[in-house]
Amino acid sequence: MSAQRVVLASPRGFCAGVEKAIKALDWMTRIFDPPVFCYHEIVHNQVVVNHFRSLGVVFVDDVADVPRGAPLMLSAHGSPPHVIDAARSSGGAVVDAVCPLVTKVHHELKVRARKGYTVLYVGHEGHEEAVGTMAVAPDAVELIQSTQDIDRAAQRTGPFALLSQTTLSEDEWSDLREYALATIPDIWMPNRSDLCFATTNRQGALRVIASSADSVVVIGSANSSNTVALTDVARSVGSPRVLRVNGVEELPDDLEGVVAVTAGASAPESLVSEVLDFLSPREGVDTFEFTTEDEYFPPPPELREILRALCAVLDVGLGTARLSGFDGQADREFTAAQVLSPSSRSFPGAEGPVAVG
Ligand code: SF4
Repeated sequence: MSAQRVVLASPRGFCAGVEKAIKALDWMTRIFDPPVFCYHEIVHNQVVVNHFRSLGVVFVDDVADVPRGAPLMLSAHGSPPHVIDAARSSGGAVVDAVCPLVTKVHHELKVRARKGYTVLYVGHEGHEEAVGTMAVAPDAVELIQSTQDIDRAAQRTGPFALLSQTTLSEDEWSDLREYALATIPDIWMPNRSDLCFATTNRQGALRVIASSADSVVVIGSANSSNTVALTDVARSVGSPRVLRVNGVEELPDDLEGVVAVTAGASAPESLVSEVLDFLSPREGVDTFEFTTEDEYFPPPPELREILRALCAVLDVGLGTARLSGFDGQADREFTAAQVLSPSSRSFPGAEGPVAVG
């Protein structure tokens, strides 16, 4: 037996923050000779990480492992301030690919801590985003993963504020938010929750289609928080069978009936295509459009600065417009999926890669 029908969630897969990070690291590999270093996995997906490894990117979990003067990118999850400081004093070009929506939470935490708040931060212990965020004001923040954590944190001196990791499941967030409000009625919260648009949109789409599907396939890595949150959503609406797979090779061959398919924010669309080909549903694939995402995050400011300087030097020094398209507009004209494709090694408006380091 094969699947009868697939219902494909939209949006799914790469979000604007992941697009930005992958394209930024791609720019780095075109500008600098290898090795380019990256602090932590640029995003949590092995296809993406292996693609960059093949281009000579070296992933490290400690900036002390980066040779002095080597180019370094910091991952999309946001890095602790002491890591950023250490990176910037290492003598090489440093580009921080942190998602602006993570930076927003860092800023909220910094401001509340400065104002004397105790900040309850709902997040997952050890996740890179949570580690980076809490390091912004370690003395003022309490990690919240359960109602017991809220009871314990409430013993501290107020006033209190409530923030969260951007990629939680909506149920996890709302349960703990309601408990925190009941325990500390005057707790401060941002006007909009810290769950990002990509998280809520992917969960919203899956919530609709999972409830009437016979099984749900979520494509993404086990260490991807928003991927795991998608499996939580599918289970919360009673889906009888929920599978998280890294790729098609992990799919069982007994999926029948209606299969809902989605992908976490760091999973490439190529993995979705492979899963659909494998399922080959008898009645085809329907796409459920929950909403349209058109967010775009420009390259990190340090990278824009490097690109501008590179353009200026080459235009003046060589008297050529060879890199005239190598600017912010050029970044809009290609996607992370194109970056990851085997034929990607010719950037827009240029004849080939340029190495400066
Ligand atoms: S999931 Fe949200 S916070 Fe994370 S990179 Fe994407 S847009 Fe940014």
